Amino acid sequence: MIATAFGAACPLLYLLAIAAIPYLIRRDHRRNAMATTPCSSCRQPKGPGKYLCWTCWASLSGLARRALSRRDSKAMDRLQELYRQLAAGVPLAEIQVTP
Ligand SMILES: [Zn+2]
Repeated sequence: MIATAFGAACPLLYLLAIAAIPYLIRRDHRRNAMATTPCSSCRQPKGPGKYLCWTCWASLSGLARRALSRRDSKAMDRLQELYRQLAAGVPLAEIQVTP
């Protein structure tokens, strides 16, 4: 009786363990991808969903920050403007974005 229960539980546990592996791997990947996305300006780690790390964001002019914070149909254009200027070496405080 005990041997039968044990014998039945073992493959079940084994299957559960196997089923959990892809889930664990995927969860790990997602967390790492988010945590290691570097800041586009200084290459330091930044928060997920942020354009820049906090220090670089604070270095932008208030006007640029406000424009980049706005989520509308032109948001992607403004992001491109930001990245273009970063790539061109424009200092953070001098970056201008279409309001
Ligand atoms: Zn930065």
